Amino acid sequence: DMPAKNTPTRSIKRSNVDSKWSDTTPYTTKKKLQSWFQLPDGNWELATILQTSGNESLISLADEKVLKVNMESLVPSNPDILDGVDDLMQLSYLNEPSVLYNLQYRYNQDMIYTKAGPVLVAVNPFKKVSLYGDDYIDAYKCKSMASPHVYAITDAAMREMIRDEVNQSIIISGESGAGKTETAKIAMQYLAALGGGSGIEYEILKTNPILEAFGNAKTLRNDNSSRFGKLIEIHFSETGKISGASIQTFVQSSAGERSYHIFYQLCAGAPPLLREKLNLRNADEFKYLSQSNCFTVSGVDDAEQFRVVTEALNIVHVAKESQDSVFAMLAAVLWLGNVSFTVIDSENHVEPVVDEGLVNVATLIECNIEELKLALSTRKMRVGNDTIVQKLTLPQAIDTRDALAKSIYSCLFDWLVERINKSLAVGKIRTGRSISILDIYGFESFERNSFEQFCINYANERLQQHFNRHLFKLEQEEYIQDGIDWTKVDFEDNQDCLNLFEKKPLGLQSLLDEESTFPNGTDLSFANKLKQHLNSNPCFRGERGKAFTVSHFAGEVTYDTTGFLEKNRDLLHLDSIQLLSSCTCPLPQAFASTMLTQSEKPVVGALYKSGGANSQKLSVTTKFKGQLFQLMKRLENTTPHFIRCIKPNNTQSPGSYSQELVLQQLRCCGVLEVVRISRSGFPTRMTHQKFAKRYGFLLLDHVASQDPLSVSVAILHQFNILPEMYQVGYTKLFFRTGQIGVLEDTRNRTL
Ligand code: ADP
Ligand code: MG
Repeated sequence: DMPAKNTPTRSIKRSNVDSKWSDTTPYTTKKKLQSWFQLPDGNWELATILQTSGNESLISLADEKVLKVNMESLVPSNPDILDGVDDLMQLSYLNEPSVLYNLQYRYNQDMIYTKAGPVLVAVNPFKKVSLYGDDYIDAYKCKSMASPHVYAITDAAMREMIRDEVNQSIIISGESGAGKTETAKIAMQYLAALGGGSGIEYEILKTNPILEAFGNAKTLRNDNSSRFGKLIEIHFSETGKISGASIQTFVQSSAGERSYHIFYQLCAGAPPLLREKLNLRNADEFKYLSQSNCFTVSGVDDAEQFRVVTEALNIVHVAKESQDSVFAMLAAVLWLGNVSFTVIDSENHVEPVVDEGLVNVATLIECNIEELKLALSTRKMRVGNDTIVQKLTLPQAIDTRDALAKSIYSCLFDWLVERINKSLAVGKIRTGRSISILDIYGFESFERNSFEQFCINYANERLQQHFNRHLFKLEQEEYIQDGIDWTKVDFEDNQDCLNLFEKKPLGLQSLLDEESTFPNGTDLSFANKLKQHLNSNPCFRGERGKAFTVSHFAGEVTYDTTGFLEKNRDLLHLDSIQLLSSCTCPLPQAFASTMLTQSEKPVVGALYKSGGANSQKLSVTTKFKGQLFQLMKRLENTTPHFIRCIKPNNTQSPGSYSQELVLQQLRCCGVLEVVRISRSGFPTRMTHQKFAKRYGFLLLDHVASQDPLSVSVAILHQFNILPEMYQVGYTKLFFRTGQIGVLEDTRNRTL
């Protein structure tokens, strides 16, 4: 339940509005009492209240239609003087339609950035907007420009880093296609412009095309969708100059409609010599690339991109030989996909076909072809003290092949990131400070939610807690500074939901890991176990069949457990790891050793035995949780700055703004939560001077003392503003939501 739903229709409680509002003055539009009315299609429209009697109002809509409605269905709107304010906190009414309208009003004028208190909201324009580049950077640098912007928030991070000597972080979230990665790049550009000089900033910027080539893929929702989360930490010397950077990436989700860009780039752009060496073909001749039948991205030239990526690799000092090894691994993955199998006995056991696919894989990773055949078609099992060799059936062999290809790719990605980190860690002077930029998938809630959403939403629940606690601290500081009793402010925490995930032994993750280790565990037995143990938890609800529902901070999500156990288990077999370690090529060897350390390291939480071989591997959930804890530890030592990216339509097109879609994201990424948190406090703040100046003329009685505080207090009394609705601070007055609205209405009527 989102308490930020709608404010009560407090402002519409007047009985004799009509007579007072029907006179003609230059302020007619302001003097008409307007409210938000929700149309049957869900969109909100501004309605003019013609008449009110009892609980009913007569309203007119834009098309001049007049309706009689229940007053409860009306939500107060803001005076038009507040149209398009650049901080949502300035709105007298912080309800959903007002927030939606304000963002849309700005979006229509290419003002894609808006503040929601301390948070920057960015609405994806899906077109070039002239808000970037040197002139804008200079303007924000010298403060001649103050409107909300990624530059402004990055500038604040930079200043606070130097002033407070505390590391900073810029946390960017939002759903796929909302603009996170672009926003991260814009922030990096600003930092490069401010802290540049040594040339290292140029190398840091060049990591973007590399990471995008290897980590992004076209999906239905985004032509350039990042399939991984990343944290890039930019280090500064004491003089505020960039001295280096490091990148950390988070568990990759699988590619989308098209596979990772780099495969197509390689096939289209490899120079003849390389093509020949790797036995490259066109993309449509590789099974892994032709599955989706989507080979191109509109407006993108893959061959040209290949040159951009190799150039970037040169700039970050990845040597030519290393680059060739990287490309060989890519080709090996592609050829693995072309390996096929034949049935060899009556029990449907298979053997790989010895064709160019198999031969090319063996050549590229430099292994013995017989060992490759065995690794793809058999599995060694430990029974007591003996090792037996089990032959694989076709589906098992295909899974083994695909798991090997996936592991090689994911190790390659990690290896590349490490390689880049080495080259960016130039100065290695750790005396300075840093700014970290986090670009991570936001909360997801679809028709059908699976294991991926389960992991992502758990991470977002953690980030939300970080966000809440930070906001709480900020608010608290401001109240204390102004002598306000902050115990009257009520904040909600999502610890209950986090406990539901993390608790041992009876939490979602522990129960999943446990079930994944049972040879007879199934998705259904897992779902039943959840119902059995967690039904008393208020954040959990068992559903019919294999599903369950979690009450997240952003709303309820129902998860379908189909595939949970399979996805949670690490599918790579020890046989495959052994194959890689037998290669003469150094890269597969390195991959094998990281795979082994990963599976042997008894880090956090449950270890589980994989089906048969005596290896111990971390489950995907446990690995994910470990990475997340590491991330949170790093973030906790920083001052955070939040950017929430919003996707205004599902078609990646400019100029279109769907209220429903935006609203859903505002709820999910916690923007309305900020609004709610502020509403539970005293969000409207005005200095004594400003308040006295603005409303002083409304005073009926003469006030003896003309000092702003006395005038202010007299106004509060005259308007019967209840004591629990405001607090008087040393310099400012603090109001609950909507209180200023009442005064503003009176002021407008009187003017
Ligand atoms: P996300 O990382 O959130 O999935 P991206 O950052 O990849 O989303 O953005 C998706 C697309 O939206 C980009 O490829 C670009 O076309 C467009 N886009 C995002 N932000 C901007 C911006 N500030 N200006 C112009 N286009 C943008
Ligand atoms: Mg992205």
